Amino acid sequence: MKSHLIFIGAPGSGKGTQASKLVADKGFKHISTGDLLRAEIAKKSALGIEVKQVMDEGKLVSDDLVIRLLQANIDLNASQYIFDGYPRNLAQAQTLDKEVLKGYPATSVYFEINTTKLVERLTNRRTCKDCGAIYNLISKNPKVIGTCDQCGGTNLVQRADDHEDVIKNRLKVFQETIDPVLKYYQDLGRLMKINAEQAPDEIFKMISSKL
Ligand SMILES: [Zn+2]
Repeated sequence: MKSHLIFIGAPGSGKGTQASKLVADKGFKHISTGDLLRAEIAKKSALGIEVKQVMDEGKLVSDDLVIRLLQANIDLNASQYIFDGYPRNLAQAQTLDKEVLKGYPATSVYFEINTTKLVERLTNRRTCKDCGAIYNLISKNPKVIGTCDQCGGTNLVQRADDHEDVIKNRLKVFQETIDPVLKYYQDLGRLMKINAEQAPDEIFKMISSKL
């Protein structure tokens, strides 16, 4: 039986890039709970209507709802999945095992990256104000500096949540909640650590070799 993957990594650790490559080259299906929530609402299913109600009231979608959403939308026999951005804490990791994976093999892939590197990566991120395309002053400049490749716009800006103090705080909170999750998978022998400071192609080779 092939193993499903659970991607864990701080914002900016590059896990999104790897997920896209695994979907394109290896036929994985990418599971983002945010996307699932939006799709379910659009379907206007009973579950979608329930989700919409909660969100319209400005409340957080409960773990129970997310689990039901996963149960309704995935077939662990038919496809190989990448869970991205979920679980976010220990309780969710345990519930995912108990209510969704139910013994199906699933390896957690942790994109490990030095905080200083990550802060550097994120503070150099620029977003096109017109179309949302993302660039990086160090690793991914547009072809013409200051001009968006996609739409030709010239408003490449730093988002408010990409400022250094905001990023540092976000990373601290992330690390504190994710450490118990890593320990949980480690103790079960299901943790694969990836050095996320390497080039994307190197990381992809490494993950692929262990599939
Ligand atoms: Zn643009």
